[in-house]
Amino acid sequence: MALRVFNTLSGRIEELKTLEDKRIRMYSCGPTVYDYGHIGNFRTFVFVDLFRRFLKQSGYELEHVMNITDVDDKIIRNASAMGIGVREYAGKYEQAFFEDMDLLSLEKPEQIARATEHIPEMASLIARLRQKDFAYKTEDGSYYFSIANFPNYGRLSKKDLTAISDGARVDVDEYEKDNVRDFALWKSPKPGEAKWETEIGPGRPGWHIECSAMAMEYLGETLDVHLGGEDLIFPHHENEIAQSEAATGKTFARYWMHVRFLLVEGQKMSKSLGNFFTPRDLMLKGHKPSSIRYLLSSVPYQKQLNFTFEGLKQAATSVERLRNFKFRLDSGTFPKGSSPEIKALAIAAGEKIRASLEDDMNTAQALAAIFDMVREVNAAADDGKLLRDDVAELQRALQQFDEIFAVLKDDDADKAKQVLEWARAEGKLGESTSAEPLLTDAQVDALIEQRQQARKSRDFARADAIRKQLADVGIILEDTKDGLRWKRK
Ligand SMILES: [Zn+2]
Repeated sequence: MALRVFNTLSGRIEELKTLEDKRIRMYSCGPTVYDYGHIGNFRTFVFVDLFRRFLKQSGYELEHVMNITDVDDKIIRNASAMGIGVREYAGKYEQAFFEDMDLLSLEKPEQIARATEHIPEMASLIARLRQKDFAYKTEDGSYYFSIANFPNYGRLSKKDLTAISDGARVDVDEYEKDNVRDFALWKSPKPGEAKWETEIGPGRPGWHIECSAMAMEYLGETLDVHLGGEDLIFPHHENEIAQSEAATGKTFARYWMHVRFLLVEGQKMSKSLGNFFTPRDLMLKGHKPSSIRYLLSSVPYQKQLNFTFEGLKQAATSVERLRNFKFRLDSGTFPKGSSPEIKALAIAAGEKIRASLEDDMNTAQALAAIFDMVREVNAAADDGKLLRDDVAELQRALQQFDEIFAVLKDDDADKAKQVLEWARAEGKLGESTSAEPLLTDAQVDALIEQRQQARKSRDFARADAIRKQLADVGIILEDTKDGLRWKRK
């Protein structure tokens, strides 16, 4: 089987054929570092990470570029409000973004490209566009892209261009969906704003030109895949195509992949609704970064994800179940011998995971495959039917899974500590927040399940250790005739 992906440009699922065999040139739009990234942003970044990891596992050599937008309208506005430089302001949030990538176990792309370090390349691309009559200069020294001269405009977003009023312009980076207008490539200097001296005069770049210039700088005039959130299709990606293809006369990106929005508790995320969260916000509420990563990975990128606290709780339980299973395989003692059924289960799970991801990255199906294996093998082990020589094959399937999903390594506590230190340093801890994060109900439930598992596999040392861990944060376990209960001291 071959990898198939949904290409926004053609509107259908296609086999991914790279220009060079087993080598992929891809570009994903990175963050605009004017604030902390929210979970909607990170749904896209987590997907890009899953896709990267799967390509690598499939034997591709990766050339992946991601930009950091460190100059734009919002950054300039916020920096000047604080009376500091653009670089200083953006630097803080760029650092935070890299920390968040680590928290969510995201791999770093091969190339990170900062906009402010590629201004000459952007200026020369604009000069090239002007020479070919795709760009014009206005009296104040700004440059605009003339979309009337680029007949392919609107192909990605399927925009109807009949309503364009010739020469009408828009100079903000982000604009309304039906605002099909000539857009700013370069903005003339304004008092108090950062500016650069270049071959096309002084000023600063628009947002869209950045990605065209940096993508082509590192990846050549034609890329294999360009990725981003669905909110970038128009205007950002439409404009990237226009700028790049007008300059080169070649296809800019052969495949465009877009990650859908998420909802939070069934509603669009917004600050006014109080459902706007960053990964750090969730961690300060006691949620593990592995649960956040898992939940963001659990719904295929083409489908809307409804991010809920109930979902986070279930994600924590799912991750625990996988970790417990790994622990059982790694440290359990099993009778001698091997069983063809168990071996076949492991091989089938590995094949199903691969086939699911080749099918336009169907992560939900891949997860179902690993849990089917875990359930059946746990049942076999409970009956004493898991034999010693089958363990390695099961471990291999689990590892193949985790090379993509990356949730088995248990470094949640260290990461929680880092975020707590950050919150303390930033003065973000309320009076009521204790010095150490207390366990949420979901975490307590997960630990109790882990303890039950340990007892079941007669690992009493681990069961005791978990009881102590719970007692240390004031959780008391009670065996009642209806089963185990817990309460807070
Ligand atoms: Zn971009």
